[in-house]
Amino acid sequence: QSKTVSGSSYQFYHLAMDIRTFENVKFENALYKALDHGELELYFQPQIDYSTRSIIGTEALLRWNHSTEGLISPDRFIALAEETGLIVPIGEWVIRSACNQIKKWQEKGYPPIVVSVNLSARQFEQNNLFQTVKGILDEVGVSPELLCLEITENQIIKNTELTIQTMKELQAIGINMSIDDFGTGYSSLGYLKNLPINALKIDKSFIQELKSNDDNSAIANTIITLAKNLDLDLVAEGVETLEQAEFLASRECYIMQGYYFNVPLKVNEFESTYLATKGEFL
Ligand code: C2E
Ligand code: MG
Ligand code: MG
Ligand code: MG
Repeated sequence: QSKTVSGSSYQFYHLAMDIRTFENVKFENALYKALDHGELELYFQPQIDYSTRSIIGTEALLRWNHSTEGLISPDRFIALAEETGLIVPIGEWVIRSACNQIKKWQEKGYPPIVVSVNLSARQFEQNNLFQTVKGILDEVGVSPELLCLEITENQIIKNTELTIQTMKELQAIGINMSIDDFGTGYSSLGYLKNLPINALKIDKSFIQELKSNDDNSAIANTIITLAKNLDLDLVAEGVETLEQAEFLASRECYIMQGYYFNVPLKVNEFESTYLATKGEFL
């Protein structure tokens, strides 16, 4: 028996866990305060109609201005926000901020564009998501047609019945419902046909290797045909090159979002580049 060795290695392991947990708790506490401290911010990435070279919408993407770590991307904190349930108040803040922004742009007389917001499964589980969203739209005075809510297939699967019911209610008052990262989940065709949705967003992984990879162009082609047959709008995300844009346009998929056009921008830069000017963006 080597009690000492296993004992000390256990202790070592235990200590390491404590340090990690301490870091997690610190991060979690900071996230709790982020909302109250005004450290959350929406960035806006344009969605372009490539056939007319005009802007038709924008996706609002969350950023965290951490006091010591600087700008933190959602990939580093959304999962934690979902686990802790913080995504509910944070998600509500995102919807409200997006609606306030729509209102401000309206008041400045800019041509209307649809603003897309990402939702997590947890937000549907709070039971009154529909009332929350409708309440915000009414209170701020924004038309539901100017809001699009994005959810991934995998998020829908987490609580299918309640989520689809709520999506139906949201869609019924005129909000656009969209499936994000489409093609990476597990929905069957029959399942998709019964979802209350207006649009699909082709996942960027299928766009990024277009041309150089036949499998991905086959998948992109299939999704484009699928959207057409189901009469759904289609957005290609992660468009980074002219070649990818031309490939999509040649298949009549014209709505695009990606670094080829622009990265997500701070609101002022987005506004001056895409709303205050009537110029061409390409
Ligand atoms: P998403 O909704 O699929 O958003 C698209 C992501 O792709 C964004 O990353 C965007 O910056 C990035 N992207 C856009 N164009 C390109 C491109 O051409 N190439 C590449 N490589 N990437 C591109 P971001 O902003 O880091 O957000 C990551 C994810 O975090 C989002 O993926 C979304 O799932 C989640 N997220 C962001 N904001 C929110 C939010 O307010 N609520 C919730 N629940 N999730 C959010
Ligand atoms: Mg999205
Ligand atoms: Mg996506
Ligand atoms: Mg995503």
